[in-house]
Amino acid sequence: MNHIDKGAPKSQDIWQDLDRRHHLHPFTDTKALNAKGARIITRGEGCHIVDAEGKKLLDGMAGLWCVNLGYNRKELVEAAANQLSTLPYYNNFFSTANTPSVELAARLATVTPEGLDHIFFANSGSEAIDTAMRMARFFWQAAGKPEKTWLIARDNSYHGSTIAATSLGGQKEMRKQGGPLLGDIAHVAQPYHYGEGDGMSEDEFGLFRARLIEEKILELGPERVAAVFGEPIQGAGGVIVPPKTYWPEVERICRKYDVLLVADEVICGFGRTGSWFGCQTFGFTPDLMTMAKGMSSGYLPISGVAVGRRVADMLIENGGEFYHGFTYSGHPASAAVALATLDILQDEKIIERVRDDIGPYFQKGLRTLLDHPLVGHIDGVGLIAGIALVKSKTPKTFFETADKAGVRVRDHSISNGLMMRAVGDRMALSPPLVISHEEVDDLVRIVRRALDLTLAEIGAA
Ligand code: PMP
Repeated sequence: MNHIDKGAPKSQDIWQDLDRRHHLHPFTDTKALNAKGARIITRGEGCHIVDAEGKKLLDGMAGLWCVNLGYNRKELVEAAANQLSTLPYYNNFFSTANTPSVELAARLATVTPEGLDHIFFANSGSEAIDTAMRMARFFWQAAGKPEKTWLIARDNSYHGSTIAATSLGGQKEMRKQGGPLLGDIAHVAQPYHYGEGDGMSEDEFGLFRARLIEEKILELGPERVAAVFGEPIQGAGGVIVPPKTYWPEVERICRKYDVLLVADEVICGFGRTGSWFGCQTFGFTPDLMTMAKGMSSGYLPISGVAVGRRVADMLIENGGEFYHGFTYSGHPASAAVALATLDILQDEKIIERVRDDIGPYFQKGLRTLLDHPLVGHIDGVGLIAGIALVKSKTPKTFFETADKAGVRVRDHSISNGLMMRAVGDRMALSPPLVISHEEVDDLVRIVRRALDLTLAEIGAA
């Protein structure tokens, strides 16, 4: 029997062999991966994933910050199956609409912040970002200010990997590849207090970094700036939670200079921070909001841009076609799964549980790790957290890249049963929102064990 024959039983080795020979992975050094072979994941159960050898791992990352309801929600599977058997596909182009996407847009408008009542659908976070970038510039064209084209984002932000999203994002290494990137995009320093606070209080630093946006707007000329983009919490940049003074000041600045504010809620949306959206946790209201991931709990691809009144009024009242959209904008099966996701979030009061119970429990549990010699600082709110690893706490000294501290902690964590991600020397955690108290206890215990093993290894070296 050939390995690619349908139904042929495959061991981890066989999967790895096929994977090496034919599969190019996202964000991967293929040569390095092929030298060791991929971990093959075959099943999910609640908050755990299971690999081809039957090893079970607690999923501290909810897949890629998305499987918010855990892995075996029959309601989501049934919603997809029912929709696929009724109408597997129809588009929303050319004066037609499918019912799940209409219903989803209306349901989303009941949970988005006041005024963000219209939804444009796409399929991935990157596509939602491209949509918001084009929409912001199109808005100013339609408003008779076509010279407002500049977009401002932050260093070390992540907004996706299409060419537009790469151009907008502030990931240095990523930006070096595949250019030239799009023009009229500027970056300012990120609000990372622990790493870059330089003796300022958190509150001062938040205002200071927000005002860099004001300086940039003035340098470019407010009449040339279309929008400021930001993740409420920088996720892929290492879970960087801004000081509480930051976002309200950014909002004030955007209003002052008549610049649109776009919140990239791809990670923070749908309860991750204990509110429906991160902007609600941080106290600001954007003009546009991108969403994806938790929208369908990762079961099917879907994303969207929630559009506030000002931009929606222009689209609705001005008339004229916005030449933008995707074959699968508002795919009926994905929309049906997103509707079922909203039902579960609401019926089971999952977001309230993140805010009042499991979020604080998770944050408190993690902070017991602050006594560990490798843990310099822990950032987090709700069910998202970043742990900064340090060589020494006082004076604060970060590791050299060659120490590979983050990778070591991650590898020990995985060997001990917890999927955790390393972003340089920041450990990222974002477990399913349905994680139990016992599973949080397990998670914290495994992180400590991984830190201990890393300390022993680095000490020995
Ligand atoms: N924005 C943010 C904040 C993200 O975290 C991500 C993905 N991690 C994206 C956009 C891009 O989403 P996608 O990978 O679905 O294109």
